Amino acid sequence: MHATAPTVAGSRVPQDLLDALCAAVGEANVDVDPDVTAAYSRDMMPLAPSGKPLVVVFPTDTAQVAAVVRACAAAGVPIVPRGAGSGLTGAANAVDGAVTVVLTKMNRILEIDEATGWRWCSRAW
Ligand SMILES: Cc1cc2nc3c(=O)[nH]c(=O)nc-3n(C[C@H](O)[C@H](O)[C@H](O)COP(=O)(O)OP(=O)(O)OC[C@H]3O[C@@H](n4cnc5c(N)ncnc54)[C@H](O)[C@@H]3O)c2cc1C
Repeated sequence: MHATAPTVAGSRVPQDLLDALCAAVGEANVDVDPDVTAAYSRDMMPLAPSGKPLVVVFPTDTAQVAAVVRACAAAGVPIVPRGAGSGLTGAANAVDGAVTVVLTKMNRILEIDEATGWRWCSRAW
């Protein structure tokens, strides 16, 4: 666990939240480095407003996503889901103080419905 919660965008990441996120996805899948979190602040739409995420997490399965959502709800912190960040609407842009939930590690295809084209994806390892 992080011994001391870092300060991001002028506010401190709540230690309880940081601990809960590390418990949810593992410390290796939690990043608070401002240089890293800044990279997840916006998608490919340069004109849409964006904020700075407090924390970026990389869940690897559905249960981890649920645990992250529960932790953020308990802390009253907004979440922003994000795939590749290639959207062109600013819809994956962070708001200040958000937890950005990056889904790029959930890349194992579990099932494909050929009739509808729907895919069910989850963790790769
Ligand atoms: C150069 C370029 C070319 C493109 N060409 C095309 C094209 O030909 N056809 C086309 O259709 N699109 C195209 N796009 C648009 C882009 O690829 C699509 O918008 C893409 O589907 C975005 O997916 P993403 O995973 O990057 O989502 P993001 O940009 O990360 O997110 C898009 C939205 O979905 C939400 N979101 C992401 N994952 C989840 C989830 N698991 N659950 C709930 N919400 C979620 C985000 O919060 C956000 O609101 C292009 C984009 C670029 C940059």
